[in-house]
Amino acid sequence: MGAKFLTLNGQNIDGKRILMREDFNVPIVNGEVQNDLRIRAALPGIKQALAANGQVILMSHLGRPVAGMPQKEYSLRPVAKCLEKLLSMPVKFIEDWFAPNAILATDKLVLLENVRFLKGEVENDPVLSQQMAKLGDVFVMDAFGSAHRAHASTVGITDYVPLVVAGPLLAAEIQALDRIMQNPLHPIIAVIGGSKVSTKLDVLQSLILKTDTLIIGGGMANTLLAAQGHDVGASLYEPNLIPTAQKLLQLASANKCKILLPTDVVIQDGSNKQLSEIQASDKIMDIGSDTIQVFSDAISLGATIIWNGPLGVFEDSRYAAGTEAVAVAIAQSKAFSIAGGGDTLAAVEQFNLNNKISYISTGGGAFLEYIEGKTLPAIQALSGAGK
Ligand code: ADP
Ligand code: MG
Repeated sequence: MGAKFLTLNGQNIDGKRILMREDFNVPIVNGEVQNDLRIRAALPGIKQALAANGQVILMSHLGRPVAGMPQKEYSLRPVAKCLEKLLSMPVKFIEDWFAPNAILATDKLVLLENVRFLKGEVENDPVLSQQMAKLGDVFVMDAFGSAHRAHASTVGITDYVPLVVAGPLLAAEIQALDRIMQNPLHPIIAVIGGSKVSTKLDVLQSLILKTDTLIIGGGMANTLLAAQGHDVGASLYEPNLIPTAQKLLQLASANKCKILLPTDVVIQDGSNKQLSEIQASDKIMDIGSDTIQVFSDAISLGATIIWNGPLGVFEDSRYAAGTEAVAVAIAQSKAFSIAGGGDTLAAVEQFNLNNKISYISTGGGAFLEYIEGKTLPAIQALSGAGK
């Protein structure tokens, strides 16, 4: 937190080989990029590097392939095509990173194949880090979405390139997140959804300590409702986490954090029910209409708003109303608002609210870890570089 690092601005990078770590971990179906949000978010940094009239070499991971076994479904080739369209210039795609003369001095813009095909990447192997480092005179870390991973291309490499800087996307992410983490304006309201308590336990704990009001929806609310003694029928919930959920509720009251949970819900047949009306076969799929009102009113009072996780199964239009209403309430508020998380971003796009929320983080896991107050390894490496 409060990380200090060099950025691309003001550096003498003219004519240099600029090696950039991006987060192009985008959904790809049948060789086509399905959502180019992360690629578009990287464009300002790439353009800034291209303006230096040297050479720009991009690297990224995609998915979780097995190192040493390149599989087509994890190839970044579709991303090269997408970049060519977005930048209106040729992108040389290179499968074999370290083949002699793979990268020619005349190649202005290069995209290297999936960095996780290389053995040693996820182990942060120093030999691989050094090999990678030889490809650039400058290393630009702009993959905020990968900043929570200590890999060769995010951390190891920073020991071996003469100049190491943060790209504009990463710098903007940290700046926006620090507005939330350091002296945020009160009231601070967090909205947390998503399927399970277990995947977001640390986030919930940290938000209880930080925020004035914590609004909880989605599948994870079911476990908290069960912890309060409500019958959640056949809904998704985690019975083994009920004691943990009870502790979270106690922690909240001890820390004067007001927790808001749904009082009515939408079940699988689309009907709206009060909690007391839930039958054994009912599955909670979304927050109900009364709850939407209460959550929206609470959101309207916030000066700082943090949102992660859909409030229902928004992928199905029958259960999207709660997530949409909450997203609209956040968009309409005058608060400084941040939304982050893979599915949360998909929801923001689905409801066309991209420009209405103060900051939309491209990070999923990295966003959550930063909110938890953890130090992200790649940010730490950037802060230590050149010292
Ligand atoms: P993010 O990626 O934004 O952090 P999560 O991955 O934690 O969000 O959660 C998203 C998933 O939670 C979505 O696929 C959504 O369908 C699911 N979800 C939300 N509410 C419920 C619910 N009531 N029951 C089951 N799944 C839910
Ligand atoms: Mg998700």
